[in-house]
Amino acid sequence: MSELSRLTGVGPKRLKALQAAGLHTLRDLVYHVPRRYVDRTRVTPIATLREGDDAFFTCRIDSVQTPPGRLIVKVSDDTGSFELAFFRAARFLTEQLYPGRRISVAGQVKQFRHLQIAHPEWEALREDQEPRGGLLPVYPLTGELAETRAEHKLLQKLALEALSTFHFSDALSEKEREHLGLRPEVESLRVLHAPESMQDVTLALAELKVRELWPLCLRRAQARRERLARGRRFPSTPETTAAEEAVRKALPFALTQGQEDVLASITQALGTGGQFYGLLHGDVGSGKTAVALLAAVRVAGTQDPGDKTRGAQVALLAPTEVLAAQHYRNMEPWLRAAGISVGLLTGDTAPAERRALEASLSEGTLRVAIGTHALLSAAVTFADLRFVLVDEQHRFGVDQRALLTKKGNEPHVLYLSATPIPRTLAQSLYGDLEVLTLTEKPAGRLPVKTRLVPSAKQTELLQFLRTEALNNRNQVYWVVPRIDSEGNDVDAAPAIEGAVKRLRQLGRDGDGWSVEAVHGRVPAPERDRILAAFRRGEIHALVATTVIEVGVDVPGANLMVVEGADRFGVAQLHQLRGRTGRGSAQAWCFLLEPPAIGWSDETDARLRGFASTEDGFKIAEMDLLRRGAGSLEGARQSGFGALRFTDLIADADFIRDLSARAEASLDP
Ligand code: ADP
Ligand code: MG
Repeated sequence: MSELSRLTGVGPKRLKALQAAGLHTLRDLVYHVPRRYVDRTRVTPIATLREGDDAFFTCRIDSVQTPPGRLIVKVSDDTGSFELAFFRAARFLTEQLYPGRRISVAGQVKQFRHLQIAHPEWEALREDQEPRGGLLPVYPLTGELAETRAEHKLLQKLALEALSTFHFSDALSEKEREHLGLRPEVESLRVLHAPESMQDVTLALAELKVRELWPLCLRRAQARRERLARGRRFPSTPETTAAEEAVRKALPFALTQGQEDVLASITQALGTGGQFYGLLHGDVGSGKTAVALLAAVRVAGTQDPGDKTRGAQVALLAPTEVLAAQHYRNMEPWLRAAGISVGLLTGDTAPAERRALEASLSEGTLRVAIGTHALLSAAVTFADLRFVLVDEQHRFGVDQRALLTKKGNEPHVLYLSATPIPRTLAQSLYGDLEVLTLTEKPAGRLPVKTRLVPSAKQTELLQFLRTEALNNRNQVYWVVPRIDSEGNDVDAAPAIEGAVKRLRQLGRDGDGWSVEAVHGRVPAPERDRILAAFRRGEIHALVATTVIEVGVDVPGANLMVVEGADRFGVAQLHQLRGRTGRGSAQAWCFLLEPPAIGWSDETDARLRGFASTEDGFKIAEMDLLRRGAGSLEGARQSGFGALRFTDLIADADFIRDLSARAEASLDP
């Protein structure tokens, strides 16, 4: 039998309704706190009432009329008159509602012919009597619980009874409570269910936030403390300086000031002797890779004094083969320039080559390993793994990232993330990491122009693409979704074939027009061949599923068409769009409206919002506001995703302050 039955007035029917609303235990009931309050602490004059107000006033009855099926009561106060209406079974009310009587009235003001409250709550008042007001809780109701005052009142009564009758243990000790200046939990909860003022509510809520956040903040502070007490120093030495110089010379560009600053923070931390654990986030195309590379050089450039062929090792984990291969291709010449050996290990690596790589990693002769999930396999061991870099970190689970770090001896860790989030949120969410932010992009890039294209304009669009590609050496990404509007996987093949066909029709004899497609079912060698040709500019248009979403870097491709843009979140669209605008040419991103059905108004507004800005931080905020901060991978992983009282976005400062207190509270 449910423990809820022990409460007064909870019979089988009520019990069923409560359970249908997700309330199964006494604890559920007391934590089911009001989402807002109807303020009846103040009486409003009739003259100031507006449609939609939660009105509360005192008045005198002027007249009572009884047209068929209704009861109309006209009332007034010193400021004006007002109408109350009662519909069903109202006849008996005439005995209580009669002209000359003083009453208090509460309810929502509606506009019919004139302002009116239908079925108000009312109470008879003696001549000198104050109305009974207060703050009335409004609970989040679901299922069979109807949205009526009586139901809210009942939930309040049950919660208060549960709080006063049963013993709830407090998760915090008295000492901790004292330290944090908190009342016992039941008291804060009681205030939320029956507050006297809104100040009381604010205070009680703050206490409950502290309660749920404190253990998380404390755990984080401890983890951070432990980390700073271990790790190996990688200070600037003649070898590392020479290696870094060689890599910088090999890079085709100079670092931006933002990149320099972030790199300096990382190398400074690597030189302290504490374990470095950082998150580098920055917009797509902000140049995180070069920073990661130079940080890696600081570690891999350190040689074993006894044997110059060995030394500290670095692993770079990437979520896709395409991306790992690209990193390898880019970094290999730069690292070679510094005399640092590097290998690529993915699911595509041939068995013999894989065995050779594994051997040199376990011997310590291979210094940098770039790879996909293949790096996580048990067969891969390192002689001395000291630095783990994870690109597009949100693509990996905590366990996967841990698998790699466990292959080393408390290695330094740097996560790279192209999901920029507002800085205060990043700090509150990733309080145990050093959060590093790249805000500026390399100079000389034009903003990407984003346009919504009605399906009627598709022919024009195709012509534009052809002209751009053939006359201006531009290249096209054509993206089709892999999921339907409900988020289920679908076969992308028909959409891909359709797009390829439409694009190929643009070709004329002898113009060399070339269109290819890559997607999950294209075998790896074929896919690599296509991507390589696209990179060399030999393919004009590349049709793809979101294979290209992550990290692919082809500076010559500055045109993008996205089909089914409504299936993507704005943050994901931003990632896609970030594939373009990497060179100095004007880049375009076209969101193609589906024929016939079009977009809903909501989608249209969302996509226009996306088209209006290129600021990844703003877009992340749009995404966060729509989906809630709990949707962030980091929130789920840190335990911050399941908070009841705290809002990660609105309370970011609160969390940061509490983290600082947690840190200060640790024994020195
Ligand atoms: P992301 O931060 O999205 O990983 P990348 O590291 O792939 O971005 O860099 C995007 C592009 O910008 C690459 O083509 C890279 O070579 C180029 N790039 C990076 N840093 C600079 C710089 N300081 N100056 C000019 N181009 C740069
Ligand atoms: Mg990247």
